[in-house]
Amino acid sequence: MTLQTRFAPSPTGLLHLGNIYSALQCQAWAKANHARLLLRIEDIDFTRCKPELAEQMIDDLHWMGISFDGQVVYQSQRLDLYQQALETLIAMDVLYPCFCTRKQVSERTTNRKLSALDSYPQTCLTLNKKEQAFRKQHEAFSWRLNSKKVQHILGKGLYWLDADGIKHGFDVVRDMGDVIIGRKDIHFSYHLAVVVDDAAQNISHVIRGEDLRSSTPVHRVLQLLLGYDSPVYLHHALIYDEAGQRLAKTKQSPTLLFLREQGFSPRDVLGLLEKVSESN
Ligand code: GLU
Repeated sequence: MTLQTRFAPSPTGLLHLGNIYSALQCQAWAKANHARLLLRIEDIDFTRCKPELAEQMIDDLHWMGISFDGQVVYQSQRLDLYQQALETLIAMDVLYPCFCTRKQVSERTTNRKLSALDSYPQTCLTLNKKEQAFRKQHEAFSWRLNSKKVQHILGKGLYWLDADGIKHGFDVVRDMGDVIIGRKDIHFSYHLAVVVDDAAQNISHVIRGEDLRSSTPVHRVLQLLLGYDSPVYLHHALIYDEAGQRLAKTKQSPTLLFLREQGFSPRDVLGLLEKVSESN
C-alpha cells in the first residue's frame, strides 16, 4: 500500500503558527515513513474562503520549505463528487431535511448531550413526508444524519483506528448526534467533503490536530455508509502561547505573512515553534 497523507488547510484566513505546526507534523511523518504528502485546499465554504488566501497559503508553505507531491487539489473544483455522495446518502434514507434556523436550534436544545458533536433536538425528524416535501420547495434546509437509524444500521462496536493500531470505540447517537452532512448555505459539510476526498485521494494516514478528534467518528461513519476504506488517524497536540491561548486563527495567532514581513526567516519560525512547543 502506498503511504499517503495530506495537509488540508481552509483558506478562511492566513496561515498562522498553529497551521504551520500542523503542516510540519504532516511533513515529518511523511519523511519518516517515506510517504507522499499531498496538499488539499478545503475551500468549499464560499461564504468565508478566498482564492487570494489560498494563494498566500501555498506561497507561505513553499517559503517554509514544505513541499508537496502531485497537484494541489481544490475542493471548490470537486463539488460534483460531494453532490454524488450526498445523493447516495439521501437515497439510503439516512439523512433528513432540517429547516430549523441556528437560533431555533439553540432555543430548542434544552437537553444538551455534552459529548455529542451536535445535540440537535431532532425537531425536524418527526415531520411527515408530505410536510417535508412541501417545506423543501419553499424553505432552505440542511441535511442531518439520522443518528438513531445509522446506529441501528451499522450496529454496535464501531471504532476508528489510530496509527498505533488502537481502536477508538464510539457510539453514533451519544458521540455525534444528528450532525449536519449537507449545509443549508453551501450544500455540503466539511465532514462529507473530507471523507470523499480522503477516499478519492487514497489517503492512508490522516494527520491533524486534536481539535478535530471529535469529528473522526463522523468521518468513520460516513466511510462505512459510503463503502470507503478508512485511513488511520493521528491527532497531534495543539500548541499554545505563554498566556495559554491556542495558536489558531480564531485566537489571533501571528500569521506567517506577518512574521515574514517582520523579517523572520523560515529558520526563525522553526525556532519560535520549537520554543512554543517545548513550553507546552
Ligand atoms: N480543513 C480543516 C481545517 O483547516 C482540516 C481538515 C482535516 O485535516 O481533516 O481545519
